Amino acid sequence: MTKKKLLIHGGTVVSASDVAPYDIVIEGERIAAHGLSGAFDPASFDEVLDATGLLVLPGLVDPHVHFDSPFMGSKTVHDFHSGTAAAAYGGITTVISFSTQPKGSSLLRNLYEHERKADGQAYIDWSIHGILLDSSEQTLLEIPELVEAGVPTYKCFTTYRHSDRLMDDDSMLLVLRTTAESGGMLMVHCENDAILEYRLARELDQGHTSWIYHARSRPRSAENVAIQRVIDLMKEERAPVYIVHASTAESVQIIQKAQSQGDPIHCETCTHYLVLTEDLLNSELGHLFICSPPLRTQRDLDALWRASRVGPIEIISSDDAGLPSADRTRLSEGRFDKVPNGMPGVEPRLTMLYTEGVKKGRISLPRLVSLTATNPARLFGMFPQKGSLAPGSDADIVLFDPDIGWTMSAETLHMNTDFCPFEGRDVFGKPKTVLCRGEVVVRDHELIGTPKHGRRIVRKLDRSVID
Ligand code: MN
Ligand code: MN
Repeated sequence: MTKKKLLIHGGTVVSASDVAPYDIVIEGERIAAHGLSGAFDPASFDEVLDATGLLVLPGLVDPHVHFDSPFMGSKTVHDFHSGTAAAAYGGITTVISFSTQPKGSSLLRNLYEHERKADGQAYIDWSIHGILLDSSEQTLLEIPELVEAGVPTYKCFTTYRHSDRLMDDDSMLLVLRTTAESGGMLMVHCENDAILEYRLARELDQGHTSWIYHARSRPRSAENVAIQRVIDLMKEERAPVYIVHASTAESVQIIQKAQSQGDPIHCETCTHYLVLTEDLLNSELGHLFICSPPLRTQRDLDALWRASRVGPIEIISSDDAGLPSADRTRLSEGRFDKVPNGMPGVEPRLTMLYTEGVKKGRISLPRLVSLTATNPARLFGMFPQKGSLAPGSDADIVLFDPDIGWTMSAETLHMNTDFCPFEGRDVFGKPKTVLCRGEVVVRDHELIGTPKHGRRIVRKLDRSVID
């Protein structure tokens, strides 16, 4: 069977390093060639996509979503079907979700169960991260098997002792050692559990139950000290570490200092920490903005943008973990500490970062591509298959119309929820057409793909990138 030949012509191609007027040739699932605009004869192609006036980006990679995941008595709004549909509308062609196992159960078995939930359901490509809840003999034995199985990244928590998820120092050292030996990378949710529990008790003692006390009870210091502790433990067992959702001004300084000393530490922030502040918790619907770490202040937001421009932030993820608003309201019983944490965000990410980042001059277009596509692919072991427009890479491509001005709203987005954290914001730019491995998944703002298209991506980390 001859491969279908597709030409994207007349667009402005943006890579992690350049912005240039290129035409792109796709053969089957892969990118086959580039040429300056007009280099190829449209008549010799099976299909031609006119990208005049559009930005042509590598398909985005969102390495931090929670699909089909039970949490705090509720369940995330997105499964692989609805989540990958919303992601495709948002210009994403690969997601990495987390599989959370019941304590004491096998990491691998849980991973396979999670994969079955994705199989045949995803419009775009996908992969999974493991989650480590302990350093039991079984967990340590399974880490190398996980890495072998194409799942070389897994997350642990420095908090949530009350739900038995806390990884203490002793355990962390063992996990770091196994990570170093097996060629994996440990992801860490950093908030110091003792500070959180102490503050929580103090606020509740004083009768403080309104939403804003979620932020008061999870101070920056708790995040900062937890990140520093991981770095200190890395001095004992040198292994690659990825700090998820850095949210404070100090966190990025701490990480930068460790990097400058040669520690193999990496970090991300998330869209909402770059756009929203804790003031939102002061409203009646403030509970819908509860996430952990909490939204911070303008000072943190400004610092995170600087760190996104020049480092140490390498990736901006969505941490899509939306929960049904009705569940959040009901389960909260009017108290901040009972609200299931997490917000949806997989679809708005590109438009929000383009609007707040590129249009406001905080980051360049190539940097936007680095932060949302190229770096996630590189750090999580999928480059150059993903995150790249080079010949040979998967034909994952977004035709982004930068000139569309619109108002963000849950009503017009395609996420499976009535809540959008960026509701009412005037934004610029919208993905118009999205290809995943050469297949058009979204055409002219309409989802036309099939949930059978998405494929599991086997990942292998590149030591020269993460060490
Ligand atoms: Mn987290
Ligand atoms: Mn998360």
